[in-house]
Amino acid sequence: MSLIPHLINGERIDDQGRTADVFNPSTGEAHRKVGLASRATIQQAIDAAKAAFPAWRNTPPAKRAQVLFRFKQLLEANEAVISRLIAEEHGKTLEDAAGELKRGIENVEYACAAPEILKGEYTRNVGPNIDAWSDFQPLGVVAGITPFNFPAMVPLWMYPLAIACGNTFILKPSERDPSSTLLIAELFHQAGLPKGVLNVVNGDKEAVDALIEAPEVKALSFVGSTPIAEYIYAEGTKRGKRVQALGGAKNHAVLMPDADLDNAVSALMGAAYGSCGERCMAISVAVCVGDQIADALVDKIVPQIKGLKIGAGTNCGLDMGPLVTAAARDKVVGYIDDGVAAGAKLVVDGRGYRVAGHEDGYFVGGTLFDNVKADMRIYQEEIFGPVLCIVRVGSLEEAMQLINDHEYGNGTCIFTRDGEAARLFCDEIEVGMVGVNVPLPVPVAYHSFGGWKRSLFGDLHAYGPDGVRFYTRRKAITQRWPQRASHEAAQFAFPSNG
Ligand code: NAD
Repeated sequence: MSLIPHLINGERIDDQGRTADVFNPSTGEAHRKVGLASRATIQQAIDAAKAAFPAWRNTPPAKRAQVLFRFKQLLEANEAVISRLIAEEHGKTLEDAAGELKRGIENVEYACAAPEILKGEYTRNVGPNIDAWSDFQPLGVVAGITPFNFPAMVPLWMYPLAIACGNTFILKPSERDPSSTLLIAELFHQAGLPKGVLNVVNGDKEAVDALIEAPEVKALSFVGSTPIAEYIYAEGTKRGKRVQALGGAKNHAVLMPDADLDNAVSALMGAAYGSCGERCMAISVAVCVGDQIADALVDKIVPQIKGLKIGAGTNCGLDMGPLVTAAARDKVVGYIDDGVAAGAKLVVDGRGYRVAGHEDGYFVGGTLFDNVKADMRIYQEEIFGPVLCIVRVGSLEEAMQLINDHEYGNGTCIFTRDGEAARLFCDEIEVGMVGVNVPLPVPVAYHSFGGWKRSLFGDLHAYGPDGVRFYTRRKAITQRWPQRASHEAAQFAFPSNG
């Protein structure tokens, strides 16, 4: 069984330490092993990143951008092999894997604008013959810790921009599907990235804790579940680090009585069941305003859920693959059991779903609950599986109150033809990313991504303009050159233009 190693100082490293099995969720087979970095291995990565920083910091942004341009080309050229690795270890379909890679590449494209992004701000004559400017300077060694559900895209949210800004980076990907992440980092080296600028350490809590505790690591970007996001935010900020920690979600779609139902149903199908519901922007709750739209939704969506094409992610032309691990499948089944016990109406039951030839895969079929209430666990908690819950309410105000009262605030959307309702929704909803007739309002790379409430700890969102702010610190420089031999008396009043 092949071992997925670490990548430190441009070299593949097997530290001969602990390992974990990596499964193919479509077959249930443990087909690779991944190294779990020890503290000593993390220190090796930190030392490499620290040593690479002075030269990389002083590399002109235009030269950094040239490496990023070549990296983009290599990512595009390797789309098929990367997508296959994602499908083999995550279980999502090949088409979905290619989609996440393309969205990741958009972040590389944004980072290619390094010379423009890092121009800083300049003002001539802030006082008599005094000029001032703000520099965006890199922080030094920064680290990213990423989840299993986007092994290509989420790391690409982080390190291309951090590196474009002149930092050196240590990435700790998810130990459940690390192969595509490692290959992508190797492509960056093939593109001409100097050794030590990007290091990948595979591992678990031991590796994460070593990164949190290391004084050399100046900032941490985290994406994953809320309990770990909160832990990393608390432990990192306590040590004086800059931290952005993106957590879990429960994303609601509001269906107004005037929604274009056919399109809303198509949108909900993709957003609820795409990637087997394992997306932080997946729609897991449909809030129907009025029984009429709720009944019509159930009538239209049930045959489509029953018709989902489910199979091994590595096969083409499917809608949905398996869940990532046996534990993830059992957790989702546990939630369905719980919803039934709590009295929600199970309209389509995905438990016990079998795919011929893949009997040991971690499959759950598309599942639909109706008449879900706000006090049920299936409503309150993130299921992270192919389960859509319908909640029936009487008005838009009631729908918005429900969403605003939820602990998560990552994404939401409204389906309507009423501009006034849509405007009110955008204005007053307590959620970080909002779609109007757009089910997955994931911001493009030149805007920033982030939720509200317990979906994000920290203040700057991921990638885009907020990412530049996160990975740089400002230095404000004020300069004057007094005339030679002129004598100026001491001034005791605070200097001003007044
Ligand atoms: P996770 O929190 O289990 O793991 C994320 C990372 O943290 C992994 O690298 C993992 O190794 C590490 N980790 C796990 N347990 C740890 C511990 N006790 N101490 C230190 N580090 C630990 O998340 P996951 O299951 O990989 O991903 C799914 C979750 O991520 C979902 O909750 C999903 O909503 C969330 N997510 C959020 C966003 C977002 O942008 N808000 C995006 C993608 C995924």
